[in-house]
Amino acid sequence: MTGFGDGTRCVHGGTAQPRPDSPFLASPVFGSAFHLGGSVTYGRSDNPTWRALESAIGALDGGECVVFASGMAAISALLRTCAGTIVLPSDGYFLTRQYVQAELPLKVVTAPTSGPWPAFDGVSLVLVETPSNPGLDVCDITALAAEAHAAGALVAVDNTTATPLGQRPLELGADVVVASDTKALAGHSDVVLGHITCRDAALAERLRQSRTLGGSVPGPFETWLAHRGLGTLDLRLTRQAENAAALYAALREHPMITGLRWPGSPSDPAYPLASRQMRRFNGVLTFQLPSVAAVSDFLAASQLVTAATSFGGLHSTADRRAQWGDPVPDGLVRFSAGCEDTADLVADVLAALPKE
Ligand SMILES: *Cc1c(COP(=O)(O)O)cnc(C)c1O
Repeated sequence: MTGFGDGTRCVHGGTAQPRPDSPFLASPVFGSAFHLGGSVTYGRSDNPTWRALESAIGALDGGECVVFASGMAAISALLRTCAGTIVLPSDGYFLTRQYVQAELPLKVVTAPTSGPWPAFDGVSLVLVETPSNPGLDVCDITALAAEAHAAGALVAVDNTTATPLGQRPLELGADVVVASDTKALAGHSDVVLGHITCRDAALAERLRQSRTLGGSVPGPFETWLAHRGLGTLDLRLTRQAENAAALYAALREHPMITGLRWPGSPSDPAYPLASRQMRRFNGVLTFQLPSVAAVSDFLAASQLVTAATSFGGLHSTADRRAQWGDPVPDGLVRFSAGCEDTADLVADVLAALPKE
């Protein structure tokens, strides 16, 4: 699919050559045991539905993709390949830090996404998340990769918020992309899935092996749903980013709102770097309301915004992150603009926000 635009690649990625009587998007293959003689033997080690989605995502990310049962299954498989010291974001997805602490004999050094970075001597892996979740800070992948590579460390980027259309970390110098496809990639709040894409085919093979041995395999139906969702990612991101831009403009001067962040706005401190390294923006904003009660009142008053964790879906959602243990102020809201009509969404949010 080289030479085609994002929309075309999303629609056609991973689809089989057309054959009479076969569907455009192959149906999910549910088998656990396969007739021997070909490459697929058993449902824990391989599956044609995984291969189709891996082909589509791998082409977009620009590397070799391995799908996993969830974003955390992907991240934990990657972290299990590490030894010694690793660097993790102090402000990124908190379960990543919690997983290492609870399960792995690794020394962890943490650093905020916007830096400063620690020395990378003796570090085996540097994991960054940019834009970070939920703070939406951004770090310079190319500069970081140069520094980490000079010290002999691998660089992995959690690309969940950006999606493969928003950012291509492998092109920017990273070695590995990890992502939760539960969010915008699948995009309909009906599936949990993740993937890793590697520049190095040998590392991808090692991760496939880890998936087979560890058994954290994605269900064929979930994989198929994610592939179907990927088909409209380009369209959905366009509307979500339009909605985020309109909300940013409407909320900027709002008396009850502080700390409004959206890296896609020239007024955001992350914009100069984000606009350089990202290919396009998305629908995720962060802001603060004065209290827990103000957030509850807002969510109760809105007709269109659903209180839900997760983000990137078709429907607008908002999540007060402190309730999950994120080290952020009580009233911090991660807002995920969905695909509703822009005028409807802005009017609904403005009407629902507390006036004083
Ligand atoms: C949601 C999320 C994850 C975890 O993914 P799951 O699919 O929920 O396991 C990891 N990283 C980031 C940035 C996320 O937003």
